[in-house]
Amino acid sequence: MKQKTYIGIDLGGTTIKGGLVSAKGKIIEQLTLNTPSRKKTIIQRVERMVSQLISSSKECQGIGLSWPSSVNIPLKGSEMRRRLEKKIPLPVWVENDASCFALAESLIGAGKNYSVVLGITLGTGLGGGLVINQKIFKGKGGASELGHTILDFHGPKCECGNAGCLEQFVGKKGLARLAKQHHFATKEGAALYRLAQDGNKKALRIWQVLGSFLGIGLVNAINVYDPEIIVLGGGISQAGKFFKKAMESEIKRRSFLKPGLIKVSQLKKGGVIGAALLAKRSFDKSPN
Ligand SMILES: [Zn+2]
Repeated sequence: MKQKTYIGIDLGGTTIKGGLVSAKGKIIEQLTLNTPSRKKTIIQRVERMVSQLISSSKECQGIGLSWPSSVNIPLKGSEMRRRLEKKIPLPVWVENDASCFALAESLIGAGKNYSVVLGITLGTGLGGGLVINQKIFKGKGGASELGHTILDFHGPKCECGNAGCLEQFVGKKGLARLAKQHHFATKEGAALYRLAQDGNKKALRIWQVLGSFLGIGLVNAINVYDPEIIVLGGGISQAGKFFKKAMESEIKRRSFLKPGLIKVSQLKKGGVIGAALLAKRSFDKSPN
């Protein structure tokens, strides 16, 4: 294969996704493995995945790592980068997973015609990434940790040490909490999705409550960033049809600013693409 390629690795709480991606953000080859709990095994799996993807392309230029906040995973992205750089003769860049997702959306996804794009990932927790004029906004390095903005300061304890963070109410953690409160035997998103699909009233109610919480969280983000478009991604976003109405009515009721568009991501593997495009942009900017 002659064309220039980039590797994107997206580490999630459940799976590690990897892809060989073209300069235009098209996935050429992809791999998925389960995310192990042990740090050592995560390192081995990522190394194996990268080696396998590199062997498919002679023109691979660099590697991008889409990494979650360290409270959710026992291995920091910076450490993974050092490990890879020791083994593989390619530059490696690491970025927050929601920022990678937002970058992909702003370059080739729902946000491509807008200058201020807010990406929200609804996975195990809630991640936020802001892209302004196709550049990730990082503040002085850590923005945008929307999952740890406070929704209820008397609320449930969060892994970050605070209480009542937004991600305790939405994402898989929030869903599990709601399922328990409503006396469901299951706390799995997929099962609650199927129950809602079958018209189960309690399951539908759970998704509505989650939508209201998400709406309130988004009001805070809208009032601070005033994005032209918010793109929702991650596994939980697939249940958008069950929570969208409650989310939108909360936003309409509470937002100080006039909200822009809100869409569910249509990109397959946005995190992988975003990480690879981050590697491309960083490579293009680097002196070599
Ligand atoms: Zn928190």
